[in-house]
This record gives sequence, C-alpha cells and structure tokens, in this order.
Amino acid sequence: MVRIEDKTIEKIILEKEENIFNYLNAEELFTTFLQASNDFVFILDEKGCIKKINDAATKILEYPEQELIGRHLLDFVESGCKQSFSHEFSELIKSEEIYCFTTNFLSKLGKEIICEIKGKVLKENGKIFSMLGLAEDITEITKLKEQIKDLNYRLIEANRIISIESQRAKHRKALLEELNKLKNEFVSNISHEMRTPLASIIGFAETIASDPGMPDEMQNEFVEIILSEGKRLAKLINDVLDISRIESGNIVVNKEEIDIVQLLNEALNLHRKAIERKKLKLTFNLPDNEILIYGDRERILQVLDNIISNAVKFTNPEGRIMVSVQSLYKEVEILVTDTGIGIPKKDLPFIFEKFYRVNRPGLEIPGAGLGLVFSKQIVDLHKGLILIRSEENQGTTVLIKLPKLLKFQPNKD
Ligand code: ADP
Repeated sequence: MVRIEDKTIEKIILEKEENIFNYLNAEELFTTFLQASNDFVFILDEKGCIKKINDAATKILEYPEQELIGRHLLDFVESGCKQSFSHEFSELIKSEEIYCFTTNFLSKLGKEIICEIKGKVLKENGKIFSMLGLAEDITEITKLKEQIKDLNYRLIEANRIISIESQRAKHRKALLEELNKLKNEFVSNISHEMRTPLASIIGFAETIASDPGMPDEMQNEFVEIILSEGKRLAKLINDVLDISRIESGNIVVNKEEIDIVQLLNEALNLHRKAIERKKLKLTFNLPDNEILIYGDRERILQVLDNIISNAVKFTNPEGRIMVSVQSLYKEVEILVTDTGIGIPKKDLPFIFEKFYRVNRPGLEIPGAGLGLVFSKQIVDLHKGLILIRSEENQGTTVLIKLPKLLKFQPNKD
C-alpha cells in the first residue's frame, strides 16, 4: 500500500487512469483531506476528548499533537468562553444536524483565537460514539469586521460633523447675506431721508437766487423752510452718528446729578409753540420737589424731546397730551400719554427697530424712524426701561423708568 506522505493530493488527482478508491482505503482518504485542510479539524470521543486532530489544529493551537490527544476540547477554550462553550456543546450533542457556534481558544503561547465551529455528533444505535468538528480561524476576519464597524461609526460621526458644519456655514452665509441686506437697506434709507430735505434746501435756495425781485415776505418764508430743512438734515445726521456710536460702544456718557422734573420742563418748553399751534391741551402732573437721577443731561433731554415730539406730531389738533412724573422707591417713572392716532398692533413689535416707521398713507409726517431706537439705547445705557402701549386711533403712552440717585448711593455707576 502507498503511504499518503509519498503522494501529494495533486499527484493522486493527476493519476487519472487509476481509481483512487481502489488505490486508498477510506481512512487514508479521510486523513488526506484532514491534513489538506487549513481549518482546524478534530474528531472527539463520546466524552468530548480529542481523538484525532489535523496539522492545522496543532499550528493554530501551538500545541504538539501528543499534548492535544486525549484532552477535553474545553481545556483549550479561553476561560471567559468556557461557560458559553459548554452550553453550545450540549446543544451540539442534542442536534441531529450540523451545529454551528463561535468560541475563543487560547493557544499554548497565550494567543486568543476566535473560531467558528461546525460540528456533528456520530451515533450508532442512538448512542453517541464520536463527534466531528471543523473550526475555522476567524480571528483576523472578526478583527477586520470590528475595525470596519469602528470605521463605520467614525464615518457616521464624521458625516454628522460635516452636516453640522455645512449647516453652520449655511447659517453664517445667510447671516452675512442678511447683514449685507440690512447694510444696503440702511444706505438706501439714509440716502432717501437725506435727499428729501436736501432737495427742499436746493430748490428754495435756487428759487431765491433766480428771482432777485422776490418779495421780502416770500423770501423770508423760503429762508425759514431752508433753515428748518437744514436743521432736519443736521438732526438726522446727528441721530445716525449717535446710534452708530452707541452700537460700536464709542459713546461717552457724561453723567451728573440731574433734576428730572426740571429737565422735563425744559423738554416741554421746546414744544410749547407747536403745542399752541396745534391747539393741544397739555396737562402735566409734576411734583414740586426735585427728583434726582445720575445721568447724561444732554442725552436724557434728547430722549424726552423725542418722546414729546412724537406725542405732538402724532396727535391731531385739539387733542390732549399728559405728562406725569412719579417718584417710586428706587426709580423715577415718567409717563407721556397722548390721544393721537396711535400705533397699529402689527407695527408695535418693530417700533424700536432702526428706520421703522408706521406706514400711514396720506399722512406726510416727517421723521426717519430713529428717535425711538436712540431713546431706547440711551435709556438702556442708564440701566432704565422704556415701554410703549398704544392703540390705533385711541392714543399712545410711553413709559420711561430711570434709577433715582439715592443720596447714600456709594457707587453712582
Ligand atoms: P421718527 O423719528 O420717525 O418719529 P420714531 O423712532 O420716534 O421715529 O418712531 C417710530 C414710529 O413710531 C413713528 O414713525 C410713528 O409711526 C410711531 N410712533 C412713535 N411715537 C408715536 C406716538 N406717540 N403716536 C403714534 N405713533 C407713534
């Protein structure tokens, strides 16, 4: 008989004319396939002890054959997997089919080997006499799968970050576009607001210049218009400069002790003529004694001037304006109420926005929509509060609260 060592499988296959079943007996044929396999192949006895093993198994487990034969397969299972191995092994025994499970072996040199086992019990007269098994070393594949899984998680994470970043970039772009739009709107608003008084100034000045024989009365009237339009232009430029100074934090507030009652009287005096002209009924409820605040005299006067000017502008002739001051515990409360045309509900949320003006078709009331913006900024700088309550065709109330100067106040700021 020819020994298997003398013949390689290739040679055997090449010898086509010969019938290999005549040539080898069944055990040799089986041993040939056993040794040819790269997988760990084993035959166990009925108790689970190793009866036969192939070369691949000794290579994988790093034990010489004689140290494997006769030992229970469980002895080579990594300690953490012994319990699950025992469970799977009992399932294998119960199974009539090829049973498949995964376990970790531990090599002689301490290397962990992950194997996928396919096993089948062999029975004679219903009694197990042997078990055949094939264990495929899937350590590398498992590690690769783990790496792929990890890479997948990272990829998902990276995609998430990319999507967040792209959203942020979109948001930033939209913000820049919005800022750009606001800047353009600002430039166009300011140009428009400047063009109107400038056109009057130029128009009336040209008329005077082209007509030397113009009657004095007419000339004086035109000069009055030029002067008032010039003042309107100067106010607009100052308002814009003030607002931009406040917004850039470059405003200087020169704080001093001010009597708010006296300042309110001063602001009212600026509008006496207009009040008389419109036959408005002015009532005021000012205390006799002074109420001191610590603030910028000129700026607070500008705020009061703006609020009273609006009350006068937006109240129809013979309407009423009421001004009152009340001294509270730590604050002074100023109320300016009018019975004017009021502010529609839909416009109220935007009333403190730059250049916002209520659209009033047919009413040509001058203004650039900067007065309330400026007033709010100044009141905020004084740690105060400004609120507007209004009803269309009923009237408007502006409430301003400013911190009082308490005589024992150690830090005036
Ligand atoms: P402007 O300088 O044009 O008066 P403001 O910022 O002071 O602008 O006010 C913005 C808008 O709020 C005004 O155009 C006006 O429509 C409305 N408004 C302010 N105060 C009153 C008021 N007392 N009565 C009615 N409308 C008012």
